[in-house]
Amino acid sequence: MLHGPGGEITIYYETVCCGVVIPESWSYCPECGKKLESDDKKKTEKFFDEFATAFICDKCMNSVHFDHNYCGNCGNKMYLK
Ligand SMILES: [Zn+2]
Ligand SMILES: [Zn+2]
Repeated sequence: MLHGPGGEITIYYETVCCGVVIPESWSYCPECGKKLESDDKKKTEKFFDEFATAFICDKCMNSVHFDHNYCGNCGNKMYLK
């Protein structure tokens, strides 16, 4: 189990299509932009680095990793890459 900064247990998911680690709330694969149904992500013990962010999505203000192609929250394409 992973513990977040506040000491709470945090569960992360991995997208089946690209193997990218995402928080539970994200609905899109940040690598390929696929809309994620419940079968498209699986629980993982890997760590999602909340601080490795480089962009703020201009649609939903979600933090986007420097190595992600799409916003995991709304699927917006990151054109700055
Ligand atoms: Zn994908
Ligand atoms: Zn977004």
